[in-house]
Amino acid sequence: MNKLIIIKYGELTTKKGNIKFFIKTLKKNIDCALEGLDYKIEYDNGRMFIFSNDLDEIEKRLRYIFGIHEIIIGYEYDSIDIEDLKKNLIELIKNKELDTFKVETKRSYKGYPITSMEVSRILGGVVLANAHGAKVDVHNPKTVIDVEIRFNKAYIYFGGESGLHGYPLGVQGKGLLMLSGGIDSPVSGYLAMKRGIRIECIYFESPPHTSDAAKEKVKSLVRILSKYSGYIKLHVINFTEIQEEIYKNISHEYLITIMRRMMYRISERIAHKNNCKIIINGESIGQVASQTLTSMSVINETIRMPVIRPVACLDKLEIIDIAKKIDTYETSILPYEDCCTIFVPDHPVINPELNKCVEYEKLIDWPLLIDKAISNEEVIKITKENENFKDLL
Ligand code: ATP
Ligand code: MG
Repeated sequence: MNKLIIIKYGELTTKKGNIKFFIKTLKKNIDCALEGLDYKIEYDNGRMFIFSNDLDEIEKRLRYIFGIHEIIIGYEYDSIDIEDLKKNLIELIKNKELDTFKVETKRSYKGYPITSMEVSRILGGVVLANAHGAKVDVHNPKTVIDVEIRFNKAYIYFGGESGLHGYPLGVQGKGLLMLSGGIDSPVSGYLAMKRGIRIECIYFESPPHTSDAAKEKVKSLVRILSKYSGYIKLHVINFTEIQEEIYKNISHEYLITIMRRMMYRISERIAHKNNCKIIINGESIGQVASQTLTSMSVINETIRMPVIRPVACLDKLEIIDIAKKIDTYETSILPYEDCCTIFVPDHPVINPELNKCVEYEKLIDWPLLIDKAISNEEVIKITKENENFKDLL
């Protein structure tokens, strides 16, 4: 008998054409996450099996991997003979408290002489005869006893824990996440990763108007997100000169609109340079003046690359719920100023006009300023290991 982890795949099974690529990518991601541990992986189109003496640690690390539907601790047997199955099940339930239960059998080996229903019935009888107080309940059992027969091996397990679902990271290529220190953008990054998109991040800072602490906070958020991907590249863009030029020369009600148009332009250039196919951000419809549909379209007009807004249609409370689940919330609410907040005008325009933006932008030499900002970018590679961010909390 081998104790092992069985992985049920997430939505992969619905993508028939890509299944091999998806499973290979998942396997690669799991190998990266399990680095340093001693283990062996076997897999087919339906399941992945992990053997190791360190299953607890492996289970912990699998909780951060997209593309997994369920993580199961189970038992593997070399015999599929029904008499052996009975004996093995009795051994497993010996020390188990069983109340209501049902046995569910799956045979991917169709040559097996007994039907699944019949195996369940026989093994159910064995449980009733050997577990004191156990009762069958096929509708709402406390324990489901799963039995799988796959060619020359049998597996028994008692349910599993839910994985992160989604697609394996990387199956969709890369996107560039506009990451501020707020609540929304880290959640957007997480949701994009869940669709299989590997991310790089871009952060606009405006020293001395924004502090080092604000930048550290963003690095901490990247570090938390990197738990789901191993590492993430962060591009830090010094936005001070652009912001000051806008502030000095352009009508203040258009400050935010123009500033965001510049952010989009820079993001698209950085995305192209780093093979990112899309931009991801944390805009949420109606949340602030720059997130009305008119604002969003006037801002979006500057670039051709698709912009994905995973939280666009979520309520703030729904976004906060996810932020808490993925552990970014406590860091996001630390009170360090964002470069958007320091230059916020009293009355930002809610329905900006495109032709006005174009006229205002003629007042500054933005192509030059953007070139300069991009050539001065700082690139930081962040992994989940360097956890010194705790000092900040
Ligand atoms: P968040 O909670 O993510 O900060 P927000 O509700 O504060 O979002 P805005 O400040 O209008 O909204 O920003 C909208 C989006 O623009 C952010 O979610 C983020 O994707 C991007 N963004 C804003 N400020 C920055 C910045 N300094 N660096 C990088 N991206 C930014
Ligand atoms: Mg913000």
